Amino acid sequence: MTESGTIFSQNVKQIAFDDERHKKMLNRYIFFMCAAEDCANHYANIELEKNRAFNIRNKAFKYYDKLLVDFETNVINNGGIVRWARDAEEAKYMIYNILSDEKAKNVVKTKSILAEEIGLMPFLEMKKVDITETDTGDFICYQYNERPSDPNHSASHKKQKDIAELYAEKFGLSNDLSPKQLMTVTRKVLNNRYLTADAAITSADFFVADTGDIIISEDEGNVLKSIANADVHIVLVGIDKLIPSIDDISVLLPLSSLYEVTRIKAKSYYTILSKPEKSQIKKQKLYVVLVDNNRSTLLAKEQQRRIMTCIECGACHSVCPIFNTIGGHVYDNAFPGPVGVIRKIGDGYEESAHLATLCGSCHQCEQYCPMNIKISDLILRNRIEIAKENGSLLGEKRVFNFIMKRVSSRKEMDKTKEFLNRLEMKQMLKKTWGVHREIPVLAEESFSELWKKLNNFDQSV
Ligand code: SF4
Repeated sequence: MTESGTIFSQNVKQIAFDDERHKKMLNRYIFFMCAAEDCANHYANIELEKNRAFNIRNKAFKYYDKLLVDFETNVINNGGIVRWARDAEEAKYMIYNILSDEKAKNVVKTKSILAEEIGLMPFLEMKKVDITETDTGDFICYQYNERPSDPNHSASHKKQKDIAELYAEKFGLSNDLSPKQLMTVTRKVLNNRYLTADAAITSADFFVADTGDIIISEDEGNVLKSIANADVHIVLVGIDKLIPSIDDISVLLPLSSLYEVTRIKAKSYYTILSKPEKSQIKKQKLYVVLVDNNRSTLLAKEQQRRIMTCIECGACHSVCPIFNTIGGHVYDNAFPGPVGVIRKIGDGYEESAHLATLCGSCHQCEQYCPMNIKISDLILRNRIEIAKENGSLLGEKRVFNFIMKRVSSRKEMDKTKEFLNRLEMKQMLKKTWGVHREIPVLAEESFSELWKKLNNFDQSV
């Protein structure tokens, strides 16, 4: 097992039996299920809309090479600058160099899953860049020196009491502030940062080939505030966010907002950024950093490329029983839940093996996915490839071979009890099941033995 696999197993053992955390996750799940009930009711024909969305994304993949170049040409014509980064290292250094070249001292950043993926914040902090996260949930997580646990509800695993205590320690306040007061403090801290920011780093929901536009949606207004003052705006976006036409957002944006499943059915602000601001008092520079970081590896996989149509609504992990048991942090991945499990294969077979087992094939996620992605099938596909190419899942293969042999006949099934009751088997099972679970007690007699007895069958037959 890789080092990340070993750390993952240790973390899972710790977190999976934390009752208090379970209660929080359960509440989150119940909230999601209640709110999700009427998502489909917002459309006369939800399946038609899902198909439209899929066709848009699929068309983008089909003409990727041309559309990416179209986008770059349009951004340049609009007065922006495009940079291409092959991997995380290149992207981080690219952003650092832009900030250095532009002499940006104070930097504000908005929520970005890609920034989490490439580890941008810790990197820039290590390089002594004065950078502040402006999304409230992410801001709270960074005060704990933690990464957000979930891209859509970053600090949902935190208790209000703990946040109040943290704020008391960090900002010298009383430790019993209400949620409203905590928000006021956060806004005050952030407002000072917006006013003095030289550069803003934001993400984008999509970027548009035929116009060079950048589409950003948000709830808090922090993106608008971040880019309002800054002289330099850096948009960090993965190459998978390309859409062919500006018309496509009328399908994709409502779907992604709706299935994010919060109390409101749309985002508070949608920004279509066409060109950098150039006025008498301000000459803003716009950089678009397009990042691959294994996306082309996934796009080259005929089946797994389907996950690249994901619009990051988060519905799948909100209903996933495994995510709701272990939470987002243990995935150690910017994309937790089923999406993270599938995308991880882009990092290689060995690196992704420990996540590939995180699916019970309940198929709940697929019922809520607005892009109709066959999520469980893709996870299964990953497992098949990993077992074939890397051999890391050989243990599971042996267990399933054993089960298949045992269920092949009644006689074999009857022998299972003796086999499992053997001391060494009990010890092995205990090790696998951990200290928190009891190994189920097998019935003294199997069904067929009981059946024969009840019907007075001759045992020798
Ligand atoms: S896979 Fe589907 S449900 Fe999951 S985040 Fe992506 S679009 Fe949403």
